[in-house]
Amino acid sequence: MRLRVYHFILLLCFAGSLAPSTLHAGNDIVLSDSVAQLGLASQSNKASDSADAERYAGKNGIELVADKNRDFLYIGGAKVFLSGSIRSYRGKLTVQSNDYYKVLLPLLWWSQPPTNSIKRIVIDPGHGGKDPGKVCSLNGTCEKQLTLDTALRLKAILEKNGYEVILTRNKDTWLDLDDRPAFAARAKADLFVSLHYNAAGANDFKSSGIETYAYTPVGQTSTNDTNRNRAQSSAQPGNNFDTFNMILAWSVHRRLLANTGAEDRGVRRAKFAVLRTLNCPGILVEGGFVSSRTEGAMICDPAYRQKIAQAVAEGIMDYRQRTQGHP
Ligand SMILES: [Zn+2]
Repeated sequence: MRLRVYHFILLLCFAGSLAPSTLHAGNDIVLSDSVAQLGLASQSNKASDSADAERYAGKNGIELVADKNRDFLYIGGAKVFLSGSIRSYRGKLTVQSNDYYKVLLPLLWWSQPPTNSIKRIVIDPGHGGKDPGKVCSLNGTCEKQLTLDTALRLKAILEKNGYEVILTRNKDTWLDLDDRPAFAARAKADLFVSLHYNAAGANDFKSSGIETYAYTPVGQTSTNDTNRNRAQSSAQPGNNFDTFNMILAWSVHRRLLANTGAEDRGVRRAKFAVLRTLNCPGILVEGGFVSSRTEGAMICDPAYRQKIAQAVAEGIMDYRQRTQGHP
């Protein structure tokens, strides 16, 4: 009998050690407990939220909204894709641990040490020379012209704000994709932004919206990869800046959405060559669809490209504030 009691106590201890802590549920992480540690408080759901949705707000007003079975959530009003779907554990929403550490933590962790100074920014106007990029279906304007024009506008705004800006190309010339991050390294850039415009398949004149990309972190899948189990397995130089890449992508993406009113196609991850070998934080912006009848016409208007340039500049300045430890 005494032996049985002893075994029972042992079993209790063993079960206790196996039971998920308040933070972890197996390989998943309980959202409510985790974001509370980052200073976010639970909010009551809005009428438009589903019964399973959870809503949080930080002291700085940034909101996090998550819903069950989705592979994205909203942070500060911008859609951010996850590697895995949001699930539920004992009535609480959970995210995969790599999504917590690679997406939520960098975005919600405001108190970075003030070590990140940004002076020199390399802007990369996508395509050029022999490579026109996407072509506007309305008037034949090439992506390479639009990205160069946007880059020149962005350069002027950033310089006015005290930054030193170098373009990977100042005219209609081609640079190999691998030469662009190498250019940034030679220039001793503190930040790298590659500018692009998107296009849909033939006969699709409707798809529109803005996407902002960070290089895919190890253990995460690229957003556009149809095989969602094919995680990035080998670290690339660009992965040294996963945390900063994500903060920069989100900061710029939010400003782009706010300044243009464009459709939110999300902060995404991809293994783009121009981001792979970077030795500073960097992102790639797809500033809308030149193939769209409406958005394409807007992108061909210089006033709209000025808005895009202004938004990217504001996003960079937001990023600098955030990474210098301002809430
Ligand atoms: Zn492009």
